[in-house]
Amino acid sequence: MNERYSRQTLFSPIGEAGQEKVKQKHVLLLGAGALGTGSAEALVRAGIGTLTIIDRDYVEWSNLQRQQLYTESDATARLPKAVAAKNRLTELNSEVEIRAYVMDADPRELETMISGVDLMIDATDNFDARMVMNDLSQKHGIPWIYGACVSSYGISYTVLPGESPCLNCLLGQVPLGGLTCDTAGIISPAVQMVVAHQTAEALKILVEDWEAVRRKLVSFDLWANQHSAIGVSVMKNPDCPSCGEQRSYPYLSYDMQMKTAVLCGRDSVQIRPSTKQEWDLPSLADNLSRLSGTVERNPYLVSFTTGEKRMVLFKDGRALIHGTQDTAEAKTLYHKYFGS
Ligand SMILES: [Zn+2]
Repeated sequence: MNERYSRQTLFSPIGEAGQEKVKQKHVLLLGAGALGTGSAEALVRAGIGTLTIIDRDYVEWSNLQRQQLYTESDATARLPKAVAAKNRLTELNSEVEIRAYVMDADPRELETMISGVDLMIDATDNFDARMVMNDLSQKHGIPWIYGACVSSYGISYTVLPGESPCLNCLLGQVPLGGLTCDTAGIISPAVQMVVAHQTAEALKILVEDWEAVRRKLVSFDLWANQHSAIGVSVMKNPDCPSCGEQRSYPYLSYDMQMKTAVLCGRDSVQIRPSTKQEWDLPSLADNLSRLSGTVERNPYLVSFTTGEKRMVLFKDGRALIHGTQDTAEAKTLYHKYFGS
């Protein structure tokens, strides 16, 4: 056994046998923001076998206060988070296979990526993506760990399919809301606390210590000095469309429309075209450079700033339109500058 894991294998619930299990396991991490970078670093240092990281965004200066894998040069270069995270994680532990994807959590695509995955960790910033994970977890029998934080507050819950109530069962029963928006700001200890809960649960699941897995929903407010753990087992709903007897997995259904999403607290709209295509970024940048505005390009994206608006187009056709929360206006700008 590798010396680098000696302190972890001395911890008897893991031991050499547990370490060997961790090395065989594959974790899918959805999101590489604050929670995602924390979980990724912990799992990679712990010697996970394979880590898949999916993130749709790129590094900005406002991320550096709490998104622990990123550097000033990542923000200057506007590197996609998945790429910047992989760069850093590979430096931390070259034994781990890290698969990084710059993409949005599209249900169909996600479903093609989860074969062989032992555990999914939620590090997203929106409820839609969590409900997609929840349905995939139930459909494919893969545990997942919910986590969210805002200001000095955080919450975490572990879903074991076939046993615990799923997140859909808990909707409306326990307070899960109010966490989708980052307008309230956030302090890094709230992030670290959720990461600690999620990583501890992840290690239990990876070493298959099922009895140790926490069944309660935990939440805390570090500024108000409050902690709570809610027993939720009685909330399992036999009629739940995600985990009940008659299942429809409602969050996996998908219609072939251009999708827009307002990104909370960022005055931005994301646009995902209905069909995927590889964009020729150099020629797009060339076309845009003839218009009045500023064009910047790296191998992953083109950024175009004109007036109050900044538009970023990724290679797969996805775009972030900054400076508006109006989805119709964002779509108009997308068609105007990027065509299609
Ligand atoms: Zn359910």
